Amino acid sequence: MSDRYGVVGNPIEHSLSPQIHIAFAEQTGEDLVYEKLLAPLDGFVKTVSAFFAEGGRGLNVTVPFKLQACELADALTERAAAAGAVNTLMRDQDGRLLGDNTDGAGLVADIRDNLNWAIQDQRVLLLGAGGAARGALLPLLAERPAQLHIANRTAAKACQLADEFSHYGALSGGGLEPLCSGFDLVINASSASLDNQLPPLPKYLFTSSGRAYDMVYGATPTPFVHWAREQGVEAADGLGMLVGQAAEAFFLWRGVAPLVEPVQAQLRRALLSGQ
Ligand code: NDP
Repeated sequence: MSDRYGVVGNPIEHSLSPQIHIAFAEQTGEDLVYEKLLAPLDGFVKTVSAFFAEGGRGLNVTVPFKLQACELADALTERAAAAGAVNTLMRDQDGRLLGDNTDGAGLVADIRDNLNWAIQDQRVLLLGAGGAARGALLPLLAERPAQLHIANRTAAKACQLADEFSHYGALSGGGLEPLCSGFDLVINASSASLDNQLPPLPKYLFTSSGRAYDMVYGATPTPFVHWAREQGVEAADGLGMLVGQAAEAFFLWRGVAPLVEPVQAQLRRALLSGQ
């Protein structure tokens, strides 16, 4: 019988994870099935426990259960512990439920390996101080940027995050206004684009070779991507991050690293054609 995997969330209908993991399995010849699990808002633990009790091998976890998954796990990877959130669950060799967070690694892989944009020695600005920003901090700091500044609408949250992660590397935090200039890479980890909004950003934000990355993705350029491109800045959305975090989870489960690019291209075509 094929090994069983899935993604759990609420809502779950929109999730692209089955498409991604089935494409990875076809590409690598891994024998698995992958399903969507809709957990009731008060029934996450029950849904996950039943899945693993019935022989399930691994789960992706999405909104709104990443914090609960972190609490449920018997053991956490360092990056999941730092993120305080889990997006990937599996049983380890001792039968314990292991929680990982692959979102930040997916982001870094997309920026560094797919887009070929440097992070090391660059001045990096991270917009937002929510769960996605928190999950990105450790993987970003591991790339040794020259500077990492967190700017958030609620300045206190950015300052707190910078304090909390200060022992991992040099970073600072503050509000959106005023912002320094001269960033080589600006990553939008705020959810503003989801509401079709743009944080109040000055035009002098980037260096002449600066780049912009929005964690949000869509069929049309997000407001942040659109704004950056208007200024002649190279910009990308977060579809590659989505596929990248899935590739990290697939590797954790199967020990095989899938190719990300063809799957990302397949999803982009589907997004553009409205499928
Ligand atoms: P949270 O709700 O935890 O945090 C939202 C953040 O956005 C907060 O810092 C909030 O600021 C800020 N924000 C919201 N609206 C605005 C606005 N209009 N202007 C400025 N700042 C704003 O969300 P997450 O951190 O979990 O997710 C952030 C985004 O990242 C989401 O859009 C999500 O879709 C995306 N994401 C993409 C992934 C991918 O694979 N591509 C993976 C994970 C997340 P404040 O603190 O002031 O409220």
